[in-house]
Amino acid sequence: MKKAPPAERARAFCSPLAKTLEQKQDKVRWEAFDRGLWDRLQNKMKPKAFETNDNGHTKGSGTVRIHILGSCSGTEPMPGRHHTAFAVERHGGLYWFDAGECCAYTAHVSGLDLRTIRRIVISHTHMDHIGGLPHLLWTVGKLNRRLGGMDGKTIRLHLPDLRAWDAVNALLSLTEFGSSPPFAIEPHLIEDGTVFEEDGLTVTALHTRHLAHREGEPWRAFGFTAEADGKKIVYTGDTAGYEDYAPLLDGCDVLLHETGHHHPADVARRLVAEGRAPGLLAFLHHGRDILDHPEEQKTLLSAIPGLRWRILGDGDVIDL
Ligand SMILES: [Zn+2]
Repeated sequence: MKKAPPAERARAFCSPLAKTLEQKQDKVRWEAFDRGLWDRLQNKMKPKAFETNDNGHTKGSGTVRIHILGSCSGTEPMPGRHHTAFAVERHGGLYWFDAGECCAYTAHVSGLDLRTIRRIVISHTHMDHIGGLPHLLWTVGKLNRRLGGMDGKTIRLHLPDLRAWDAVNALLSLTEFGSSPPFAIEPHLIEDGTVFEEDGLTVTALHTRHLAHREGEPWRAFGFTAEADGKKIVYTGDTAGYEDYAPLLDGCDVLLHETGHHHPADVARRLVAEGRAPGLLAFLHHGRDILDHPEEQKTLLSAIPGLRWRILGDGDVIDL
């Protein structure tokens, strides 16, 4: 048999070695990525100076905690940020607001126990607010199969359009989630007024003009208040502006305001001018102003007297 030329023999010898080396490099890269993400989520990396002038004033009795699980608006994939989601933690239970991509992942690797979710509230059915919902419910099922604890429990799901639940349910039934998990998922339609009262936590809804609306038809986009232990959180949802959420602002400790459709400094100036600045103006659902020009936004916000503000990132926590 004719021997292969030396160069070819060398290549044949080296190629498996090169492949192993590549896999090792990939492993190192992934480990570094995981470490970075873990550090960030554990808040070991301090928020950048430009992201807040809050100075920790929101540290209160500690009975209510907000976990930011996704801080981005519906952009293309954005390094370091995922679409919008946050959870209010109280008395060992999680009350979820919006469910953008990867919210289950971010919460789990942050150390939250997804089996303690009591309710999930969706502001509207755009992908940056609901894209992570099937995966979130699937992950609860997965954790329950490994760890138990969900038998006989109910997760209540509040939606502005129940067709979204039909779609998510249909998708889940085609996955290994199965059609009959050991816990119940109970869908509820959101309308203006009380969404739920549970264990001293009251959540109310007020429609926004983010989605087109015709007379006589149900509203499909909402903002919310969440009140407990004398503290009040207002979440704008996606909003057409100040007039949408102004009726909710009395006694507001934290206003979670979207910036996907608004300039943060304009929002802040209006609130101050109206005498309605909240205890903390916390921005999330970021659009191009904050994603592309954070330093400029910091300068503008810092120039507004009497305003406490914070630009939120994934993994951030606010204690009330
Ligand atoms: Zn959005």
